[in-house]
Amino acid sequence: MSQRPIYLDSHATTPVDERVLTAMLPYFSEHFGNPSSINHLYGWEAEAAVKQTREFLAVAINATPEEIVFTSGATEANNLAIKGVAEAYFQKGQHIITVVTEHSAVLDPCKYLKTLGFEITILSVKKDGLIDLTELEKAFRPDTILVSVMAANNEIGVLQPLAEIGTLCRDRNVLFHTDAAQAIGKILLDVQAMKIDMMSLTAHKVYGPKGIGALYVRRRNPRVQLAPQQHGGGHERGMRSGTLYTPQIVGFGKAIEIALEEQARENQRLTQLRQRLWKKLSQLEGIHLNGHPTQRLPGNLNLTVEGVDGSALLLGLQPVMAVSSGSACSSVTIAPSHVLMALGHSEQQAYASIRFGIGRFNTLEEIDKVAKHTVSTIKSLRKQTLKV
Ligand SMILES: *Cc1c(COP(=O)(O)O)cnc(C)c1O
Repeated sequence: MSQRPIYLDSHATTPVDERVLTAMLPYFSEHFGNPSSINHLYGWEAEAAVKQTREFLAVAINATPEEIVFTSGATEANNLAIKGVAEAYFQKGQHIITVVTEHSAVLDPCKYLKTLGFEITILSVKKDGLIDLTELEKAFRPDTILVSVMAANNEIGVLQPLAEIGTLCRDRNVLFHTDAAQAIGKILLDVQAMKIDMMSLTAHKVYGPKGIGALYVRRRNPRVQLAPQQHGGGHERGMRSGTLYTPQIVGFGKAIEIALEEQARENQRLTQLRQRLWKKLSQLEGIHLNGHPTQRLPGNLNLTVEGVDGSALLLGLQPVMAVSSGSACSSVTIAPSHVLMALGHSEQQAYASIRFGIGRFNTLEEIDKVAKHTVSTIKSLRKQTLKV
């Protein structure tokens, strides 16, 4: 009987919660209608389900249901926000501010806009992974149209100071977009209090299905103008055409409903598990925590291990646990993580880093097993290095 490794890669994706799956199933074959069909029951049923998810999402971030635009995920939402604003506001200005530790789904649209003549300022981060607000203040220009700063980092889990950033932007009439793919359902998000104008969301990092996400687009004070990046039937108030994927949308809503309900208790549990794991691992010498110690996602523990080879470490851990390393592999190349490099790590340190993403279905027993195996793997690798 072969045992599958313990899943500890919740920042990459999460399993669909059984309760989410149960909610989705009738919408594949029974309530299969097109939510845009306004002439019959099939359409009305689907539309009602879509409406309910809009309401769950709106409640989750303190928005209104009309401000939710469904997309295929956070990648598309980021593209729509950044390229959509650039295209709609280029006459006002062509300068955008973002951060070096953003997800590639933010950095790459910015890089693309640069080829069209936009100017991009990429802020650095402090040793703890947080941005320096005075550096942001200095980066604003009269032609700045957009600031994009993520809510929670997908590698090191740090939470950027959204409310402070929002205030700086609002004072200068600059739009503020945040990629909240890792944050939704895990930390408090409030587009009013935090003065957020656009927010990217996705379902599959919070126990919902893959292939569905949303962009929150502010409708008043200020009303955000977006140039659509996908044209067609005029769905989603013209901002994103395409027949709505009702089963996925139902799953997204259910996932958010559950996450909000359980957030307080679950965060406490995850924090305890993370601290337990860190306490056991930090008994070893030469092991460092990446990212701010407390301003971080409850389930995130990102560590750099001195004196071991990164690929040997991962190889040693793999039979017991599914974790990510400090290498970002796109399908073709392996490179050291740009996030860890931005914290000042060497390439070798970045490679010898592990991201533990503790999630809803991890147990105390699993964490103890993971701690024990990680400690023994590091010890034996270090012994081998000494012998050579
Ligand atoms: C996962 C992730 C994305 C991409 O989301 P998809 O829904 O998979 O497209 C974007 N940004 C961050 C921070 C993420 O963690």
